[in-house]
Amino acid sequence: MMINKVGVLGAGQMGNGIAHVFAQFGYDVVLYDIAELQLEKAVSTIRKNLERQAKKGGIPESLVGETVGRILTTKNMTDLAGCDFCVEAVTEHEPLKLDIFRKLDDIVQPSAILASNTSSIPITKIASVTKRPDKVIGMHFMNPVPVMKLVEVIRGHASSDVTFRLTAELVARLEKEMAVSQDYPGFIVNRILMPMINEAVFALYEGIATAEDIDKGMKLGTNQPMGPLTLADFIGLDTCLAIMDVLYDGFKDPKYRPCPLLVKMVNAGYLGRKSGRGFYSY
Ligand code: NAD
Repeated sequence: MMINKVGVLGAGQMGNGIAHVFAQFGYDVVLYDIAELQLEKAVSTIRKNLERQAKKGGIPESLVGETVGRILTTKNMTDLAGCDFCVEAVTEHEPLKLDIFRKLDDIVQPSAILASNTSSIPITKIASVTKRPDKVIGMHFMNPVPVMKLVEVIRGHASSDVTFRLTAELVARLEKEMAVSQDYPGFIVNRILMPMINEAVFALYEGIATAEDIDKGMKLGTNQPMGPLTLADFIGLDTCLAIMDVLYDGFKDPKYRPCPLLVKMVNAGYLGRKSGRGFYSY
């Protein structure tokens, strides 16, 4: 099966990046959102990011207009009908995603593959509301999408080998690297990263060391680009807590319990960089 036309659902932070990379590598993209403003913002963000890439010599100048020209925006889901492959990146809310997949399943041609960029909702559950669970798969891009090399590909319980192979080929076409995960909470990256961040918060909570020394220890002692508390401030403490809750609820294992200090900071509105305060002040 040839994939020419790609649908992207949700034009937020992730959706605009996903539309950007597909268009950059020559795919016709239909970008769908319910909010006109989000669609407008997405296109201007994509243009700005492409211009930055061109300025740095990453892509030829001529590709900027060409890439933006390949993206059609719409508020009408039926415009996705002709897509061969769809990536859903709407708000992380389970009833919303299930509703979207039910509708999408009725709209797009039966041969099309439906991927989700969800960070926490089981792909198997999303697939189960469609009549094509074999053609549903997880495609978890990292933020910011045009910069980050990795895509986690998650096989749902029913994802077929053909679906997996076509998705893997797409990842390669986008010049990204794939890590394959089974469908369990947190997949690979969040399963390992978030407990590390949570443990760093426990170390602070128990008075083991200051935030600065915890970050210095991990940065210089394990060669990470930044310490775990600095990283938590970047990601957003509310997002870190939500992911710990997914691990805790999903595995029912107390080893994933969120640190009480993390919970308290989120309750206080100390969400990291985006709120001006987290483990550090900005
Ligand atoms: P976001 O809030 O920036 O964007 C969500 C978009 O969905 C918005 O534009 C909103 O208008 C749209 N939307 C809401 N309801 C809709 C509907 N009924 N139909 C169409 N569009 C609708 O969120 P985001 O950060 O881009 O996250 C999107 C998905 O990507 C989530 O599943 C999230 O878990 C996942 N994800 C996020 C990150 C990250 O770092 N932000 C990383 C990997 C995966």
